Amino acid sequence: MQENIIIAGHHAHAQVSTSWQQQLSHAIRDPDTLCQRLGLDAQWLPGAQAGHRLFDICVPDAYLARIKPNDPNDPLLRQVLPIGDETLASPGYVTDPLEEADHRPVKGLIHKYANRVLLIASPACAINCRYCFRRHFPYSENSPSRAQWQEALDYLRADTSIHEAILSGGDPLAASDRQLAWLVEQLESIPHLKRLRIHTRLPVVIPDRVDEGLLSWLGSTRLQKVVVLHINHANEIDQAVVDACTRLKQAGVTLLNQSVLLRDINDNVPTLAALSERLFEAGVLPYYLHVLDPVQGAAHFDVPDKEAQALIQALLEHLPGFLMPRLVREVPGKMSKTPL
Ligand code: SF4
Repeated sequence: MQENIIIAGHHAHAQVSTSWQQQLSHAIRDPDTLCQRLGLDAQWLPGAQAGHRLFDICVPDAYLARIKPNDPNDPLLRQVLPIGDETLASPGYVTDPLEEADHRPVKGLIHKYANRVLLIASPACAINCRYCFRRHFPYSENSPSRAQWQEALDYLRADTSIHEAILSGGDPLAASDRQLAWLVEQLESIPHLKRLRIHTRLPVVIPDRVDEGLLSWLGSTRLQKVVVLHINHANEIDQAVVDACTRLKQAGVTLLNQSVLLRDINDNVPTLAALSERLFEAGVLPYYLHVLDPVQGAAHFDVPDKEAQALIQALLEHLPGFLMPRLVREVPGKMSKTPL
């Protein structure tokens, strides 16, 4: 077992000097390797294989290095290791919990809320989170080519009430800087657009993603920039993540975080308090704490509303107001998130 620890640590370290693209292409994508690298008992393998068949495993080394080997309860491992429960059908858990299919006026664009639209900038993610509400999203039908982007851009140009473009995915930062620089150039030429918001987990999963290529287009746009990270546990924030956040801030980005409340991962007061504290140390403000979207295969992560509300009440005694995330749920058809 000791050997595994050294191999895992050494390998992760060796990867750090490579580009983010190489790190992504070397990500672990099968249950055997994941279990082996972390020295997990063979009893976890059948569940991992069953879940993997429904939604692929993807774990880059830079993230793996933050997982404690030999610990099936590690809060980062629980986010990426498929278990047999994913195959269970649960009443009310569906493939498109937010009913986004109803809000796609043109390919690659979701217009749900007033004044802002969401663009699916990349179908890929750098990590596959088991609780993801888009685990069944038909990305192949929604990743436009450059020509098809024109249709989405025309939609934005024509609607002067839209002030904010939100790049989403998958993970929008999984797209190349060339593509992103082109897209942002198109967006900033639309006079009524004021803000560019990017929802991403990549700076957390592979901190080297925040490289010069990214900072050059992000740092130079006239649009106000907000990056909403997705971090669920303080252990996800190592020094490399802090450094990536610092680089984003130096480029003029406002940094926020949203988390998902997850059973056995962050469903207690000390863990949530530590997350907020650690986020602030990294220069990030807690923004939302989402209750789980009822996506098929993720019911075992659910924390009931009453318990979630009690947790937030208790958390108030441990944190200053500006470090309190807002507990929300996304309700299909509603014009905004619903506070709980
Ligand atoms: S990074 Fe975000 S979109 Fe991708 S799998 Fe994780 S939660 Fe889902």
